[in-house]
Amino acid sequence: RDELTGQPNRRAVRAYAHAQVLQAQSLGVPLSLAIIDLDHFKAVNDSLGHTGGDQVLRAFATAATSVLRGQDRLGRWGGEEWLLVLPGTAVEELPAVFERLRTRFATASVEGLAGPHGCTFSMGAAQLGTRIAGLDALIAEADLQLYRAKHEGRNRLCTA
Ligand code: GH3
Ligand code: MG
Ligand code: MG
Repeated sequence: RDELTGQPNRRAVRAYAHAQVLQAQSLGVPLSLAIIDLDHFKAVNDSLGHTGGDQVLRAFATAATSVLRGQDRLGRWGGEEWLLVLPGTAVEELPAVFERLRTRFATASVEGLAGPHGCTFSMGAAQLGTRIAGLDALIAEADLQLYRAKHEGRNRLCTA
């Protein structure tokens, strides 16, 4: 587990994603994966301090897990980046997932902060399929889509 947020760490969430890829392939059910990166997090640290930034990370983890379903798993991928594994979810469902997360996080309170935190995130997502046939390809595609989301202005979702 990640010490700061209590969420699965990189190794744990990658192992879960790998198991879910095998499961999805053997059962023929959909699987989507998303990479989330908090926007302008350097500026968040600059204005709230590193401890304030840590509290924003904790608030994100709490907000996100409160809107996810039982099989969904959010792990800390590193720094202000997260890996989200969504078993049984097709990529067409991702806009609704993104919107739930966005709304919940926007209204989340941050410990030690009186007003709104104003922090947003960008999300890149992809679905396992014939073109994207394994975990590495799935992660690479989600990363590419995240790069697009950043490039197109942040605070948004891009999907393959
Ligand atoms: P972008 O919108 O392009 O993602 O901008 P950014 O500022 O978020 O991007 P960048 O990757 O340059 O900066 C990430 C920052 O996240 C830098 C680093 O100090 C901060 N960060 C990483 N891990 C932690 C952490 O555990 N706690 C705090 N407070 N900050 C962290
Ligand atoms: Mg980053
Ligand atoms: Mg960032």
